[in-house]
Amino acid sequence: MKIINAHAHVLKKPINKEITRVTLKDIIKDMDEAGVEKSVLFSGFMLGNEYSLKELVDLIKGDKRFVIASGINLDEDISNQLKETEEYIKKGLVKALKIYLGYQYYYPYDEKLKDIYKLCMKYDLPVIFHTGDTLFSTGKIKYSHPINIDEVAVENPKLKIIIAHLGNPWFLDTAELIYKNKNVYADLSGLFFDINDTEYIEFLKNKIKEVIAYSQEKASKLLFGTDFPLINAKDYIRFIKNLNLDKELEEKIFYKNAENLFKL
Ligand SMILES: [Zn+2]
Repeated sequence: MKIINAHAHVLKKPINKEITRVTLKDIIKDMDEAGVEKSVLFSGFMLGNEYSLKELVDLIKGDKRFVIASGINLDEDISNQLKETEEYIKKGLVKALKIYLGYQYYYPYDEKLKDIYKLCMKYDLPVIFHTGDTLFSTGKIKYSHPINIDEVAVENPKLKIIIAHLGNPWFLDTAELIYKNKNVYADLSGLFFDINDTEYIEFLKNKIKEVIAYSQEKASKLLFGTDFPLINAKDYIRFIKNLNLDKELEEKIFYKNAENLFKL
């Protein structure tokens, strides 16, 4: 089956001693090992070892296996970033915008974010929100709770929204959002680090099954993503396959939704 990784980061240098395979070369290897055809790479600004939008464009050099989600820094001048982002949208390189809720202290319905949504709607491209748990304890999770996204979804029915990480650990809140709002999707990325952590993997499987049971046919709005470099694609695909979903749903999760949303 065709596979698209809807959520990945490449970095200039390792995050720590455990996570050392982080570069573009590393993700190409990761994709080849797992049979991933395309990946959406996120530009960033928080760790000090991420690529800016311009740097990421230069790095991928038109390689068709990659498209970009432009990470917008809410603490910097937004209009300048949107201008630059729009140029790369026109060139077909940027296919989504990304907002780091929780890491940056803004609710998704903050006035400041309105122009970001406008640009997304102008080109019918999705906005991706980091939601739920943050990698560092300095994140404030009241901002990244998925429930706050409902306001934006209702007020902007034409805006396509992807809730990253299934709202972890607020899985059922996310289920309600994708069930109720036609324009809300969710990705399954970054939910575990170690596929051999049996107890946690079992917990996670049950949670995803609950989301699917609750959302019913709306669960067809889920997307596959890994959150590379935090986890390898091979293990992540195995995890999703082990959910034993029906073929039609699997196809939507692994590539059809990504193709539609990112216009690939
Ligand atoms: Zn991520």
